Amino acid sequence: MDCLFCKIIAGEIPSTKIYENEWVYAFADIDPKAPFHAIIVPKKHIVSAADITAENSGLIAKIFEAVAQIAREQNLEKGFRVVNNCGEEGGQTVSHIHFHLLARRNLAWPPG
Ligand code: AMP
Ligand code: ZN
Repeated sequence: MDCLFCKIIAGEIPSTKIYENEWVYAFADIDPKAPFHAIIVPKKHIVSAADITAENSGLIAKIFEAVAQIAREQNLEKGFRVVNNCGEEGGQTVSHIHFHLLARRNLAWPPG
């Protein structure tokens, strides 16, 4: 499948691993938007948040378990933000669902 994040998960494209378990892979964003910027993906290919169903939503729980684990490991006790961009107007540029974990700076609200 011609999917950038599937190739990163498979190790066909290099990435800087931050966390991994049976269901989830997390790696450093190549163009970070904060001093700490991880991309967290399910290993199974799901296109976007618009494709979450009762059958695959357990993987999203696994994503947020990974978020909490990464926050502990990376000492993000001052806080962080999790972002999912969905679809064209949502700013999604890679069609494999992913969650941005941003930290180590004050994050503006509302976002732009
Ligand atoms: P989005 O715009 O929400 O679809 O997020 C895609 C993210 O993937 C962007 O923040 C990019 O900087 C990041 N990205 C694109 N290619 C790579 C790569 N090869 N390794 C790590 N991150 C990447
Ligand atoms: Zn994929």
